[in-house]
Amino acid sequence: MTMLHQSMPDSHWAATAVAAPDIRPLDETVQADVAIVGAGVTGLSTAIHLAEQGVRAVVLEAQEPGFGGSGRNNGQIIPTLSRLDPANLTSAYGEETGTALARMVGGSAELVFDLIRRYQIRCDGVQKGWIQPAHRPGRMAAVEKRVAQWRALGAEVDLLDAGQTERALGTGFWHGAMVAPTGGHVNPLSLARELARAAIGLGVRIHGASPVTAIDRAGGGWRLATPQGSVTADRVVLATNAYTDGLWPGLRRSIVPVLNFQMVTEPLPARLRDSVLPSDMACSDTRGDLYFFRWTADNRLVSGCTLVRSANADSRARERVRERIRRVFPQAGDPAIARNWSGHLAMTADFRPHFHELAPGVVGAVGYNGRGMALGTAVGRELARQAIGARPRDLALPFTAVKPLPFHDLVSRFARLYMLHLRRLDRTG
Ligand SMILES: Cc1cc2nc3c(=O)[nH]c(=O)nc-3n(C[C@H](O)[C@H](O)[C@H](O)COP(=O)(O)OP(=O)(O)OC[C@H]3O[C@@H](n4cnc5c(N)ncnc54)[C@H](O)[C@@H]3O)c2cc1C
Repeated sequence: MTMLHQSMPDSHWAATAVAAPDIRPLDETVQADVAIVGAGVTGLSTAIHLAEQGVRAVVLEAQEPGFGGSGRNNGQIIPTLSRLDPANLTSAYGEETGTALARMVGGSAELVFDLIRRYQIRCDGVQKGWIQPAHRPGRMAAVEKRVAQWRALGAEVDLLDAGQTERALGTGFWHGAMVAPTGGHVNPLSLARELARAAIGLGVRIHGASPVTAIDRAGGGWRLATPQGSVTADRVVLATNAYTDGLWPGLRRSIVPVLNFQMVTEPLPARLRDSVLPSDMACSDTRGDLYFFRWTADNRLVSGCTLVRSANADSRARERVRERIRRVFPQAGDPAIARNWSGHLAMTADFRPHFHELAPGVVGAVGYNGRGMALGTAVGRELARQAIGARPRDLALPFTAVKPLPFHDLVSRFARLYMLHLRRLDRTG
């Protein structure tokens, strides 16, 4: 079974995060009510919400908490899906289920910051809002519709005109925006490590360097094997997203992993924070080939990009992001990039996150399409409710069958070409 990466990338988060919790590989046979595979935000949130209800959970992680997307991302805490609005969800799943899913998404950023407050999580969390500015004047109609849909669900979102957007972001580059005030940004690796600490404090066992190599039926439940031990549990939650391997037949082939670069600038003069993103919101615009920026606690800008070609990727990614910063925030000068790292996004063909009941007592959540920090946290809470016995109709998760993509290897190899299509769309409307 292969993992996409074997060691933690040399990221800004790895350089500045709180220390990793002291966890060991599983080297015995243990029993649990629920076994969770993957210690990213989804698995850890599931574990916390189970433990809060007195349910015994064990988390098995192939590497260490935050090793996957959860420790590598931009740290934007966003209460929306990447390409879909509430109306897309109701047309996909029907009024009741689609609305329940949309409400869960709309409340997801608040859930993250609520956990941060409740468990005194140290992750440089800033809840000053998430902003999605329109990159062309014609895109404002879609932004207005989006705002109206979220407001109809009772979500607290604002619509900014071009002048208000310029004041919030310190640039006239965009044409208006949607703001979700419950959003914000964090050091994502610190968040993952601190969620692990909180879970351990509630009695959850977490084992790192413990890849699950097989899941088999055992009695009325399941047995999960790792190289040196095993867990038997009534229920299993697979929370492996883009880092899904061949553990469960077909699951890996139902998503397309897409490499995305993240990078930080050298520290910038503190005075620039008054003119570059002065609102300190997390910002990702309406492009398909997203422009996104945020500040760190130590005055660096964090951004990133996806490339179509892999040749000279490191230098080309750095130059692409520098060029964006020069264009969007000319007042920042031309800051050098201090670190560049990467991670895989889990894309789905329908852009929806996928929730699966894989077998009686085994569930999985994959396909967050690059927006899983708040979403995964909220999904974890629902998966915990499901494991405790909530009725399917009381859950916000529409469970669907796993659909492996035809020609998956080929599709994965050429997925980045899709970026060319997105860039073409970005030039219209
Ligand atoms: C570069 C990048 C930037 C992003 N930016 C943002 C952003 O700003 N905001 C946002 O909301 N989202 C963002 N995302 C998406 C977000 O990071 C993910 O959606 C989210 O972290 C998924 O969390 P997860 O817990 O489901 O999975 P992950 O965090 O990927 O965790 C899965 C874990 O499962 C483990 N695993 C896999 N197989 C096994 C096995 N057999 N046994 C044991 N363990 C196993 C892996 O080691 C991994 O640690 C970004 C993603 C990337 C890659």
